[in-house]
Amino acid sequence: MQIIETPQQMQALSAEWRCSGQTVGFVPTMGALHEGHLSLVRAARSQCQKVVASVFVNPTQFGPQEDLDQYPRPFEHDCELLREEGCDAIFAPSVAAMYGAAALKHEPHAYESHTFVEVSKLGDVWEGVIRPGHLRGVATVVTKLFNIVRPQRAYFGEKDYQQLKVIECLVRDLNFDIEIVPLPTVREADGLALSSRNAYLAPAERAAATALYQALSQAAAMVQQGERDIAVLGAAMEKICDAQPLVKVQYITIVDAETLAPLDRLEDSPARVLIAAKVGETRLIDNIALSF
Ligand code: AMP
Repeated sequence: MQIIETPQQMQALSAEWRCSGQTVGFVPTMGALHEGHLSLVRAARSQCQKVVASVFVNPTQFGPQEDLDQYPRPFEHDCELLREEGCDAIFAPSVAAMYGAAALKHEPHAYESHTFVEVSKLGDVWEGVIRPGHLRGVATVVTKLFNIVRPQRAYFGEKDYQQLKVIECLVRDLNFDIEIVPLPTVREADGLALSSRNAYLAPAERAAATALYQALSQAAAMVQQGERDIAVLGAAMEKICDAQPLVKVQYITIVDAETLAPLDRLEDSPARVLIAAKVGETRLIDNIALSF
């Protein structure tokens, strides 16, 4: 397994693979890998001849008050996990390699990069409101990574559902010749979605955090049983979260699964419930499909 630190080396390796007719699968991550990330690597491994994972904590997708400095970076362990999964290369650039030699954390003016990818509409709602600039940071770094790794397929978790929709949109709109492969959310036994940020949770917060999935699965179960009233579903979910004083909901919403626009009524088109909450100081997001 090769560990590659510069875009030039990564582009050269990928070109070599593609020229010899091999398909390249790509899994972008911020490291602190868990089974959710590894499920993406396994899918890539089973569908592509070469697998690249990136490990890059992208500063431009963190707000000034967010957890960039705190974000866990167990790089050696991540390398071991990726080696065990049969990854062919890890792309792990420095911030300077991605954004220029003068790049300094949280000093955007020092970045030598002036081009941004902004996905309007899908990027303006939900996470786009609460984390201004976050989805622009994600869309821009994913575009850069696509141009560096040049994969035929890229693997993303449904865990970050809005991010997935933003990336599908940018791939369509910018004509990237890349197939986006979405994969289901991997959860703990009690339903909590795996997240690198779960490590921040104190034991009482960890216990309270299960309310997010309980609320989502309650809504899914009610819909299965015939409930179609959005207000009734919303109230049931809020009740479950409100029973946990450590959980402060930022939004719970039932949206069209493609446009992410809030729905007035559940009809035939696929719907998704999105939730974001602070559990203590830790911000968690999750979502579930509603099938009926
Ligand atoms: P991150 O390292 O948090 O940027 O996530 C990298 C990729 O892993 C993204 O495509 C995420 O959606 C995906 N991912 C994160 N958590 C999970 C999970 N619990 N199940 C499946 N995929 C996940």
